[in-house]
Amino acid sequence: MSVTVDLSSKTALVMGVANARSLGWAIAEQLLAAGCRVGFSYQGERLKPELEKLTAGHSGVWIQQADATNEEEMTALFARAKEEFGTLDMLVHSIAFAPRGAMENRFLDTSPEDWNTALSVSAYTLVSAARHAEPLLNDGASIVSLTYHASQQVVPKYNVMGVAKAALEAATRYLAADLGLREIRVNTISAGPMRTIAARSIPGFSGLYDKGARNAAFGRNATPGEVGKLALFLLSDLGTGVTGQTMYVDAGLSIMTVREGQE
Ligand code: NAP
Repeated sequence: MSVTVDLSSKTALVMGVANARSLGWAIAEQLLAAGCRVGFSYQGERLKPELEKLTAGHSGVWIQQADATNEEEMTALFARAKEEFGTLDMLVHSIAFAPRGAMENRFLDTSPEDWNTALSVSAYTLVSAARHAEPLLNDGASIVSLTYHASQQVVPKYNVMGVAKAALEAATRYLAADLGLREIRVNTISAGPMRTIAARSIPGFSGLYDKGARNAAFGRNATPGEVGKLALFLLSDLGTGVTGQTMYVDAGLSIMTVREGQE
C-alpha cells in the first residue's frame, strides 16, 4: 500500500540537523520529498557548510544559525520564519545535549550546573520554541520532538539525559493542552538507538546499540528512515487527532526484557 502525502502548500521549521545521520535530517527528507518548504536552524557556524551541502538543490529551503538556548537568536529565527513563510504548519525539535562528565559518573553525582544545562538544552528549548512559534502556527499545525526510553527505565550512563527526556515528554503533554483548542498537535517520538553524533557522546553507546539489535522484537534496531516516516505521519494531516503522545519507533525494543537466547 502506498499513501501519498502532499505538503506542497505547507511550511516547516526543523531545528537540530548536524549532518546526514541526524534524526532531524531523516525527518526533513520526508518533508522535502512531500514538497514541503523547509527552514532549518543550526547551533553554531561550524555546522553551516554541512547543512548547505545537504539542502543544496532543494527549493524553498533556507537556513539560519540559532542556539536554542539564546533568546535573541530564537527571536531572530522566528522573525526569519515569518519573513520567509508568513506562517508555519510544522515545527521539528531535534535537539539534545548533556555535558560528557554527567554521563560518565554516577547519576548521584550530577552537579547542579550539568543538571541545568541538560534540562535547559534538551527539554526547555521545546517549550521556548513552541512559545516563539505560537503566533506563526496555523490552526491544526503540528510540533514533533525526539525522546528516548531512558525517560522510563534506567539506561546505564544516560543519567541526567534520562531526566531531561522525562521532562521533555511531560512538557509535550502540557504544551498539547495549551495549544489544543487550536488543534495544534504536540507529540514526541521515542526512537531506538541510532548511530548519530549525539549518540556517540553517550559512554558505551556501541554496546547499547548492539544489545538493542539483539533484543528488539524485530531482532534489529529501528532506522532513521523509520523515524522520518512516523514524523511524517504526525506532522501531516494523517496524524490529526493525535496529541500529547510519546510514540515509539524502536523495532519493538522497549516491549522486551530480553530476547530468548540473548543476554
Ligand atoms: P545529532 O545529529 O547530533 O543532532 C542533535 C542536534 O542538536 C545537533 O545538531 C546539535 O548541534 C543540536 N544542538 C545541541 N545543543 C543545541 C542548542 N543549544 N541549540 C541548537 N541546537 C543544539 O543527534 P541525533 O541523535 O539526531 O539527535 C536528535 C534528537 O534525537 C535528540 O533529541 C536526541 O536525544 C534524540 N534521540 C536520539 C537517539 C539516538 O540514538 N541517536 C535516540 C532517541 C532520541 P551541535 O552538533 O552543534 O551540538
